[in-house]
Amino acid sequence: MRTEDSARVLVVGAAASGLATVEALRRKGYAGGITVLGDEPHAPYDRPPLSKQVLAGLWEPTRVALRAPEVLSGLDAEFVHGDAAIALDPVTRTVRTERGREYQADAIVIATGMRARALPGQSGLTGVHVLRTLDDALALRRDLLACTRLVVVGEGVLGAEIAATARTMGLDVTMTGPQPAPMALQLGSLVSEVLAELHDERGLRLRLGVGVAGLTGDHGRVAGVRLDTGEVVPADAVVVAIGASPATEWLADSGLRLENGVVCDSRCRAAEGIYAVGDVARWHHERLGWLIRLENRTNATEQAQVVAGAILGQDEPYVPVPYFWTDQYDAKIQVHGMLPIGAEVDVVEGDVPARRFVARYHSDGVVTGVLGWNMPKQARLRRQEVVDALQAAAAIH
Ligand SMILES: Cc1cc2nc3c(=O)[nH]c(=O)nc-3n(C[C@H](O)[C@H](O)[C@H](O)COP(=O)(O)OP(=O)(O)OC[C@H]3O[C@@H](n4cnc5c(N)ncnc54)[C@H](O)[C@@H]3O)c2cc1C
Repeated sequence: MRTEDSARVLVVGAAASGLATVEALRRKGYAGGITVLGDEPHAPYDRPPLSKQVLAGLWEPTRVALRAPEVLSGLDAEFVHGDAAIALDPVTRTVRTERGREYQADAIVIATGMRARALPGQSGLTGVHVLRTLDDALALRRDLLACTRLVVVGEGVLGAEIAATARTMGLDVTMTGPQPAPMALQLGSLVSEVLAELHDERGLRLRLGVGVAGLTGDHGRVAGVRLDTGEVVPADAVVVAIGASPATEWLADSGLRLENGVVCDSRCRAAEGIYAVGDVARWHHERLGWLIRLENRTNATEQAQVVAGAILGQDEPYVPVPYFWTDQYDAKIQVHGMLPIGAEVDVVEGDVPARRFVARYHSDGVVTGVLGWNMPKQARLRRQEVVDALQAAAAIH
């Protein structure tokens, strides 16, 4: 085993949150050594366009790069690609890699994100895809160009985006999943029903409210999706979009608390000198008063600012107002705050039939979130109501 130069800061995971941590460290004046270790062969790239512009072929794959090569080299950090961390010793702060490297650091940042979940038995068939990486997106696009019938298993945000893109490309698309409407769990019944209408108008076949029992194949290639009812929906290709799990398998023996992510304190610290950032981090949100993990692009950047500050001795809790967006056909949906299951929903601006509106979500009289549908500015202005409610909640905790 080779021992690499002692890196003062080691970032494991070379994507949005890892890169944002490096940039924040430099911006805040940190001049020491930084190594960024990533298991993908690519320089840091952005994931949101994968299910939209890249899948649709509107963007060349190179356009997802988060920074130009010269900007990356200006960071004066060592980027190591194509090698996975396989173990962490938090006491000596040492990371071992698949290729036999060993890094010891003063601070380690875990930025390993998520892995797509698979359906049992899917690996034995060709034509079955997940979508998490650039390579996944390119493989799926190749298949979409060669086939006519796509079944999307999963009615969450990723499934809904992929279905919209594939419909726009002219494929015959069916979406399946146990919820009654696309993104019903994330958006609640009122808005998800509007989304269902939109998909329906665009010709998507919705086979929702029913689980998936498995896949059927023909000569090693997927041929259909078997629903719990016994019905088989024929398919030339299938995308499995049933969620993702935090990429923490390499930390199994580390002694860190791993429960639906790397559990951290309010400063995003998992142990002395060990931090987590982005999709993989589950930290104590002081204003909410509970542990939270966010899977969205804005969080990857915002949380990195606090992690970099914590490494440099600043003592600030990470207390964001969560934010995510999704684009499907011509619908641009933005969500500030949280939309808990069972929340009451009022349309406070615009109107639903015109598909331009802002909805406010509240539970027990407390505003938890606002959603804008093709009204980004108005939704952003209403965000203050969520901030005020969070501040009031913090006063109670
Ligand atoms: C297709 C798609 C579309 C999306 N669209 C939207 C959107 O419209 N709006 C929105 O808000 N969010 C969206 N997201 C979510 C957003 O992209 C993520 O929240 C963001 O990428 C999280 O960044 P991250 O750096 O924390 O994790 P990731 O982007 O998952 O990066 C983690 C990196 O660490 C690597 N890694 C994992 N394990 C190891 C290891 N052991 N050793 C070394 N490296 C490792 C991974 O391969 C990966 O490169 C989308 C995500 C996907 C997949």
